Amino acid sequence: MVRQAFKVMAVMVCGAFSVPATVMAQDLQALARVDVENSSITDERSGGVALNLQLSQPVPFRVFTLDNPPRLVLDFKEIDWTGFDKVAVDQSEAVTDLRFGIFRPGWSRLVLDLATPVLPDQTEMRVDETRGTATLSIQMIAANAEEFSDFSQLREEDGWALPKSTVAGQPKERQLGDRPVMVVIDPGHGGVDSGAEREGYEEKLLVMQFALELEEALIRTGRYKAELTRKDDVFMSLPDRISKARSLGADVFLSIHADALSEGSATGTTVYTLSNKASDNMAAELAAGHDRGDLLAGVDLSEQDDQIASVLMDMARLETDVRSEMLADFMVNGIAQSVGRIRKRPHLGAGFTVLKAPYIPSVLIELGFMSNKSDLVNLLTEGWRNKVTRGIIDALDNWTVEDAAQARLLRQ
Ligand SMILES: [Zn+2]
Repeated sequence: MVRQAFKVMAVMVCGAFSVPATVMAQDLQALARVDVENSSITDERSGGVALNLQLSQPVPFRVFTLDNPPRLVLDFKEIDWTGFDKVAVDQSEAVTDLRFGIFRPGWSRLVLDLATPVLPDQTEMRVDETRGTATLSIQMIAANAEEFSDFSQLREEDGWALPKSTVAGQPKERQLGDRPVMVVIDPGHGGVDSGAEREGYEEKLLVMQFALELEEALIRTGRYKAELTRKDDVFMSLPDRISKARSLGADVFLSIHADALSEGSATGTTVYTLSNKASDNMAAELAAGHDRGDLLAGVDLSEQDDQIASVLMDMARLETDVRSEMLADFMVNGIAQSVGRIRKRPHLGAGFTVLKAPYIPSVLIELGFMSNKSDLVNLLTEGWRNKVTRGIIDALDNWTVEDAAQARLLRQ
């Protein structure tokens, strides 16, 4: 019987509703808001969960599940989530945590972490004809692990899905010092994925501020062109960041972070390059944490990983790795000289997915660790950020010359 219900659900649950005549056209332009007071997540004695979302107006939506770890994902036309963090999941044992925010421009995402497999059985958006409000109710029923896994594979790759990342592709001609170098800056995290959070500050916003300052400083030199992978507070998957860098014609890719670590006293700027083997536990924790950001935001990384793995076999990767290593060493020196202080082992490696562009020299810069008090103060200090920016530009100046010389040698 249960199976039957899931078969029906195999059809993507998309928002189908009629707009009441009383809802004015201009209301539909406005951002839908969540009515926190009247929204709820309730465990049921049967092992199921009832999710009720009260919205100021109907919006298109879809519901699907993802496995490993089990998650329920809801995508909506953009919603104002203000106050929704007050919808407590403390009382729910089935839903252990939730996240929400902008997933891509115009679209919001709500992700529920599930303690046990439950599947949507009945999904309905009811519209109040007179008030123009809408109620989305999802009745989830207990399922076993196999049923959950089967259902999670039924997710259609339709127009809603993430664009296929083109991780490989034609290499851009190596820079020879005869044209402005395009630096693509990647502010980590964004949207539904806030990154580290300490004392009310969010990593996604701190690194965005730094990225914008660095972009401006680079362009002002006249020697560089600069672009950002994301300009707004939106979620972007790690493979999509690589695709974006490629489409922007990146000569260099700099991913900017300021993570927090669960333990230890990590402090100071650290530069990471891609490595199959992590330099230490901390580097491994950071790399896994970033992939986890994608998983938590409801991205399926498994397919892209295969693509990336095959690309890694390519000889191109070897040449790029050498260039990235050299870039990292220049970065460490540049920042150390400009800031006067850097981490004890400032150049480390780990399996960072975002550094896997096969033809683009890529490094990940942890500006500092939000888990460290003085690092957090540095991150919030404009003078300190300016010093790091100068160090990065010095490093790029040195690297560009050396990299061009090596490219010319390869051509002979
Ligand atoms: Zn981060």
